[in-house]
Amino acid sequence: MIEETVKNIEAKAIEEIESVSNLEALEAFRVKYLGRKAQINDLMKNLKQASPEERPKIGAQANVLRNQLEEIIAKKKTILEEQDFALRVKADAQDVTLPANKIVRGKKHPITQVLEEMIAIFKELGYIPVEGPDVETDYYNFEALNIPKHHPSREMQATFYVKEGELLLRTHTSPVQIRVLKSQKPPLAIIAPGRVYRCDADVTHSPVFHQVEGLIVDKKGKVSFTDLKGTLTEFLHRFFGKNKRVRFRPSFFPFTEPSAEVDVECIICDGAGCRLCKDSGWIEILGAGMIDPNVLEAVGLDPELYSGFAFGIGVERLAMLKFGIDDIRLFFTNDLRFLKQF
Ligand SMILES: [Zn+2]
Repeated sequence: MIEETVKNIEAKAIEEIESVSNLEALEAFRVKYLGRKAQINDLMKNLKQASPEERPKIGAQANVLRNQLEEIIAKKKTILEEQDFALRVKADAQDVTLPANKIVRGKKHPITQVLEEMIAIFKELGYIPVEGPDVETDYYNFEALNIPKHHPSREMQATFYVKEGELLLRTHTSPVQIRVLKSQKPPLAIIAPGRVYRCDADVTHSPVFHQVEGLIVDKKGKVSFTDLKGTLTEFLHRFFGKNKRVRFRPSFFPFTEPSAEVDVECIICDGAGCRLCKDSGWIEILGAGMIDPNVLEAVGLDPELYSGFAFGIGVERLAMLKFGIDDIRLFFTNDLRFLKQF
């Protein structure tokens, strides 16, 4: 009879465990079969009524049943825990086969890129970068650069005045020359990169643009026009490549004598003529010349003892040629579709 009871409990437990589908239900199962009110305990109580010969047999059978039930529960627990874990993994899972989100990296503005390249080349040539203010006095922008009031060359400069006749937005980076020459003793070699402002605008002119001014001053005879040509040709070859033709044309600037304008072969049309080069095949890149004796005198240097040369390079023009852009205004409209290409 007891054997039968044991078998019944076992069979019922094995059947019932099949429908246990979570850890809570398993705990209820455990209480039912192994708890204080479990049937197996009744079995042990019956032990007292059994004959002494039967007792060990019943006890052994009850223990086997208990062990079996414990084993069933432990197995089920492992299965349920694994299922539970798998479900949570699935819920948290990331599909590693999905394409990754693209990380959008910021870029330097093409003008900044070109400015940095120019500065790097001139640093290699021994020039030290310096800066000056965007708002200048009439003295530094014109007067000290041999452009006195009512001088016809002021007509060349369409100037934005902050205070008529006194304060203005610098029309070139040349005033930095004066500031440096007034505060440092030659020999010196500097470049002054920065923004400049003029009142004209078309495909090759913008009211705000960038220049890199260069200046070298030393004892007379140490720096010649040949050095100027060599320096600028070397710069242009490093910037555009040695195969680009460079030409020097005589020109006039109030603050240099003699003066030259320097052109580079048009990169867009390879010299054939296009909108950018105004059908000439050449792009004017910079103005340069030997420092005018009047400028040296204005900063207290004796032109008999000192000489030097200066140049001003249009950064936008270099960038237009480097990147093949035919409208300067694209640099300032901040259209991301344009800027992302560089
Ligand atoms: Zn061209």
